[in-house]
Amino acid sequence: MPKKKQTTDFRYETGDAQIPWESVGEKINAPDLENIVRFLVRPKDGYEKQYDKKLDKVKTSLNDLWAVGEPSSKLTMGAQVKELENRCRKFLGVKHACFLTNATAGFEIAYKYADVRPGDEVIAPSITFIATIAYPLSIGAKVVFADIAPETLNMDPVDAERKITPKTKAIIPVHIGGYPADMDTIMKIARKRNITVIEDAAHAFGGMYRGRMTGTIGHFGAYSFHEVKNINSFGEGGLLVTNLDAGEDFSKCRFLGLDFTTTIPNWLYDVTPVRSLRGTWFVAGNHSSTEIQAVALLSQLKRIKTIIGERRRAFMYLRKRFAEDDAIYLPPLDTEDTKGTHHLYLFRIDPEKAGGTIQDLKKLLTQRGIVQIPHFGPLYHFDLLKKMGYNRKKIAVTCPRTEQVFNREFTHLPLYRFTHDRLEYLADNVLDSIREMRG
Ligand SMILES: *Cc1c(COP(=O)(O)O)cnc(C)c1O
Repeated sequence: MPKKKQTTDFRYETGDAQIPWESVGEKINAPDLENIVRFLVRPKDGYEKQYDKKLDKVKTSLNDLWAVGEPSSKLTMGAQVKELENRCRKFLGVKHACFLTNATAGFEIAYKYADVRPGDEVIAPSITFIATIAYPLSIGAKVVFADIAPETLNMDPVDAERKITPKTKAIIPVHIGGYPADMDTIMKIARKRNITVIEDAAHAFGGMYRGRMTGTIGHFGAYSFHEVKNINSFGEGGLLVTNLDAGEDFSKCRFLGLDFTTTIPNWLYDVTPVRSLRGTWFVAGNHSSTEIQAVALLSQLKRIKTIIGERRRAFMYLRKRFAEDDAIYLPPLDTEDTKGTHHLYLFRIDPEKAGGTIQDLKKLLTQRGIVQIPHFGPLYHFDLLKKMGYNRKKIAVTCPRTEQVFNREFTHLPLYRFTHDRLEYLADNVLDSIREMRG
């Protein structure tokens, strides 16, 4: 008699049958694991020989382990994902959380809940990553760009409100660099007009806005666990959250309209579309992440507070150093109830006082070999948008502060994963370069 497995997934529920469905997929074996270890832990330069020796030991140990263990029978949508979602719900203080392939998938689902369709309008900040607006662009909805508040680079709610039309279905503020957008004002504006607010919290997992966690204030919020974010799930991952009852259907949104949490008595009726906030129906895609990604994230979740703390210390150091020169604007400080995640340092100068623009300064920094800065530029300047029929010049006129800040004043600086010496070197060289520019 084969022993009975605990199943968590209706697809493998075969009752008393002797031949389980789960047996149709290949399992992980010892060489798979060895290859994963070999990939995740690379040999340091000059240590290749020692590395090979240690890896041999790992191989032996893995084989020993395999002699007393058996492969995990569940690689996707099992207990680890559930545990991760529970932990995230608690950490964020939110009702529903759904682990996904990435934040972009989270936005897509949220846009579908908002019933964004071709011809509708969505308001996004001018400066963000293309992922924020990929879904509306892809279906032929119109993206309207709100100007930014120069102090934070976040969406200016007053300008967003000016740009609302009867076609506006969603507003998607971004907590760029990890500093919270002005959510209370945005929510007030949106609620008056029945507009759905989706937070792009890709940089903002673990941040706080007036006592609530960033990402949990809008109707929906999505976090990214891509490898460049504050914590990651082996390279890719995302989390969609909401406090609305609509979140009860998240499981269906993740996987083609099927709900893993119940059994499926009749496939004809149990594969369903999902109801949007406006009562219409939408069809879900497949955005499932894996158990092993959940394991990675559960592990990193334990150190999120330490990570943000370390980032905050680096932020405070840079801010203190940059206070030495009055040509440099200082970004907002954390307060008792509003805290950034310090994903990036928002660096901004007054070109008059600095004797040159940010472009001049960046050239100097590149010449010195200090830092080459990849940049969030205004999306309406992208060629992609031009090809989609957006008029760069016309939009630029409606976003004057974006133009000023992007062309003349701001850049992001990295602040994490290097030693204090490097941080000091960065600050010294930025300050020196400004002095050089001033002449
Ligand atoms: C990284 C990023 C995203 C996309 O996150 P994915 O998980 O890669 O989809 C969205 N918005 C911003 C501002 C980002 O930096």
